[in-house]
Amino acid sequence: MAKILVIDDDITVQLVLVHLLEREGHQVSTATDGQTGLEVAKQQHPDAIVCDWMMPGLDGLEVCRQVNADPDLATAFFILLTAREDVDDRVKGLDAGADEFLSKPIEAEELLARMRAGLRSRRLTQQMAHTNQYLAALVEVQNLLLACNGHCILYNQAIATLGKIVGASQVYVCRWYSDSDGSRKTLLQGEWRENQENLSTDPPERDSVLSPLKTQLFPNWLEMLEQGQIITDKVADLPLSEQDALAALGISAILILPLIVDAQLFGWIGFEFKHQNYSLSSSEMEILRAAAAAFSLHFDRWLTEEELRKSEAHYRAIVEDQTELICRFNPDGKLTFVNEAYCRYFGINRAEALNNSLVPFIPDLERDIIQYPVMIHESQIVLKNGKIRWLQWSDRAIFDDQKILLGFQAVAQDITERKRAEEETLKALHKEKELSELRSRFVSMVSHEFRNPLTSILSAADLLEYYLETASTEKKLQYIERIQSASNTMNELLEDVLVIGRHEANKVMFNPTDIDLVEFCEKIIKEIEFSFNKTNQIIFDLKEISLPDENPLKLNNYIGFFDEKLLRQILVNLLSNAIKYSPSNGLIYLEFIWKFTEVVFLIKDNGIGIPSDDLPHLFESFHRCQNVGIISGTGLGLTIVKRSVEMHGGHISVESEIGVGTTFTVTLPLQL
Ligand code: ATP
Ligand code: MG
Repeated sequence: MAKILVIDDDITVQLVLVHLLEREGHQVSTATDGQTGLEVAKQQHPDAIVCDWMMPGLDGLEVCRQVNADPDLATAFFILLTAREDVDDRVKGLDAGADEFLSKPIEAEELLARMRAGLRSRRLTQQMAHTNQYLAALVEVQNLLLACNGHCILYNQAIATLGKIVGASQVYVCRWYSDSDGSRKTLLQGEWRENQENLSTDPPERDSVLSPLKTQLFPNWLEMLEQGQIITDKVADLPLSEQDALAALGISAILILPLIVDAQLFGWIGFEFKHQNYSLSSSEMEILRAAAAAFSLHFDRWLTEEELRKSEAHYRAIVEDQTELICRFNPDGKLTFVNEAYCRYFGINRAEALNNSLVPFIPDLERDIIQYPVMIHESQIVLKNGKIRWLQWSDRAIFDDQKILLGFQAVAQDITERKRAEEETLKALHKEKELSELRSRFVSMVSHEFRNPLTSILSAADLLEYYLETASTEKKLQYIERIQSASNTMNELLEDVLVIGRHEANKVMFNPTDIDLVEFCEKIIKEIEFSFNKTNQIIFDLKEISLPDENPLKLNNYIGFFDEKLLRQILVNLLSNAIKYSPSNGLIYLEFIWKFTEVVFLIKDNGIGIPSDDLPHLFESFHRCQNVGIISGTGLGLTIVKRSVEMHGGHISVESEIGVGTTFTVTLPLQL
């Protein structure tokens, strides 16, 4: 049955038409002029209009134009009644939007046949338009879900589109998931209400009126959804228990579409209808099914991406939590990743690191990185605060499937403390080695140096014993003297060794007293000249760097506050060396310089000189220069001198030239 409007000023024709159409079961209304016809049409929205062409006032052609210009009426099937058979007139009618023409007088069967065909084609057109709306909604839903990164506004938009198209009063999209304790729960992902002003951008909140469609579905519904079935029912057709729950909420019909991901029920889209005229065609249902599939696909993709995100976050956390510095960089040296520890260590933020490409080393691209992708190496770096640190890097070359180098991943540890410990161990080892060398040199030297005087003592004693009766007293005294001299030598040597030992053990006492230095030097010179069997003369020279007259500290008696025993060792050893390593009659000079804050002793000779190779080792124990020849000695004198000078807080230096002579300069600070 259709709603039909008949517009004709000829009452007879009008009655005939009404009679014919009502007989076909249509609901017919009438108007006798064009203007009234248009008003009735606007009120009733007829499915078809039969209108006479020739009418006073608005004629049929104008009515047809106005009907077509009104979107609410344009879909009506329009038949123009005309007595005119002219082709031009028909063209005018078609241009005005008429669908059919009927000639007067009206052929009843023709009218009814054309009406049937027109209404059928109108129905089809309407259905197509409706389906198109559903398809457009589906496309919109698909686009929204494609753009959706889990934000609820897009879910809300998508279900709003579906809700509007099906005429629902409320729509929910829910997830059905297992909680940590294994219980299954519903999680509301999106919600839309009819007449809602704005779509919510926040996650849905639980409200006081809870529909089972968004909380806990009835168990039999769940079973159906798990099997992939759509639930669509009028509430009146549901079992009583379900009816009560839904009727209490004013729901007259429901539609629940399952969302299946990985062959499992992932959730659902639930539609609630409060209007009584709920019905969906099979093609509409197909489109809704496709929309549900789009949701399922989206959730599937989303879940996969979420898994990826979780695993990435997991590994990122592992990398970030490392105390090691971790970085990645391209073959051209551009950093592509640095971890937290890396930034902390270099005192920079991530953006700085990545922009400035602070690659701490240049990988060795010459090596066979395919065969040996990992390389471990150590490097020294200077930090922002100027501190130098050691890092041990393990860099791994990274390739794609085609073995093309993508970049490097490097992990570093600070090994500064280890390096320090290694250096100290090396130093200790070195010292240990030096000590052991020293000991062995000491043993061989001492045994050698003791053997000579011992041999002299033994041979003199043997001779004394042998010639005890026959030798003259003079001869016997000579033997005894030789024994005494050799014993003295041994004693001196022992003394030196003991002194060195005491120095090594830091057991040498430092007892400074006031010493008249000029007197002291002259006494020592006499002692030395006396003890040597050589004719060298020691010339004493006193110089004074004069102080300003007004200085109250000006001293005339050259008193120094030194340890007498140590000062003796210094001067005796240096003067003895000067004589020992000079020709028999060579002159020796002892220059004494009195300064404001210090005294300087210069001991000069014109002797054999010291080879430059020996100079660095001159003050080492037992060191004797390569040019000593047969001149005897132990190589301990200068060691004792240096230690004694240092105990006074002074210093010693030497200048020497082979064959020309040597000058030792000892500077001791005066305690003022
Ligand atoms: P001793 O322990 O009996 O003094 P020594 O004279 O050999 O033995 P040092 O006084 O320590 O030992 O001197 C070390 C070495 O330095 C000497 O063996 C000698 O080669 C060199 N030397 C020291 N003084 C002079 C000097 N004035 N002229 C040339 N060589 C010197
Ligand atoms: Mg000496």
